[in-house]
Amino acid sequence: MGEIVVVANQKGGVGKTTTSVNLAYALACLNQEVLLVDFDPQGNAGSGLGVTVAEGDKSVYHLLIKEAPFEQVVRQSSNELLDVLPACKNLAGAEVELVNVRGRENMLKDALEPLRSVYKYIIIDCPPSLGLLTLNAMMAADSVITPVQCEYYAMEGLAHFMSTVAKIKQFLHPKLKMDGGVLTMFDSRMNLSKQIFAEVSRFFGEQVYKTPIPRNIRLAEAPSFGQSIFDYDPACRGAQAYIQLAIEFLGRRGADVAAYADFKMTGGTPVNYDFGG
Ligand code: ATP
Ligand code: MG
Repeated sequence: MGEIVVVANQKGGVGKTTTSVNLAYALACLNQEVLLVDFDPQGNAGSGLGVTVAEGDKSVYHLLIKEAPFEQVVRQSSNELLDVLPACKNLAGAEVELVNVRGRENMLKDALEPLRSVYKYIIIDCPPSLGLLTLNAMMAADSVITPVQCEYYAMEGLAHFMSTVAKIKQFLHPKLKMDGGVLTMFDSRMNLSKQIFAEVSRFFGEQVYKTPIPRNIRLAEAPSFGQSIFDYDPACRGAQAYIQLAIEFLGRRGADVAAYADFKMTGGTPVNYDFGG
């Protein structure tokens, strides 16, 4: 059965979307069947993979309110193992529209549950808030990944976010697991980055991902071309880091990490990795 992973942090601009898109794509490159759910009305995860939603197109909003079946919403990315559920502006209204609907916090869970048999991993990108959309994503998920930007104010809000996750776990969803924190926009030349890595590592303990994502201009450029980093510049440091993160992600889930040891992204069209088994 597939696992549902939510990428969340109520703080804006910390690398949630960049991490959702490129972790999902990297997992597909490592031969996993993946669905990326864009659950932010800004729609950056979908557009970052070149998926556009025109007037009249169905989006995850329509799936959520049962106005369209999955087949009418799902799109393919440039990688045959990665599908995308795009968002649209209507999703912003859902927070208000659903206020009086019974079971409103479980609507995404209901929509995604049948897809566990289709995908190995379902990755959900969240908006920068702790509203009903993020709550839906958490309720649907098995585990949470929290990107933390390497900056002076990194810890601000993190404790608040983690206590919210703890409350959801305590009162609504006891099986929800904290998978870990991912350091983003890490600059190895700056002492500040190293200090923050140390501080965030202490905060998360074992759960911190050992692979920090470097500050890399290619990661920031790729979405404007509607491309993952693996289409845009598969050999750059940002791409290598996301592959390493995906390998660490799989390792935590019992995969034989050594099988990926000689994995190298090279130029050209990304080819899914065949590790001989
Ligand atoms: P929001 O809260 O608005 O949804 P977010 O948490 O999803 O934001 P991103 O959109 O992923 O954050 O990143 C914020 C900005 O930082 C974007 O312009 C993105 O391209 C850039 N960015 C993200 N990660 C990196 C990185 N490792 N190196 C350089 N730029 C990055
Ligand atoms: Mg985002």
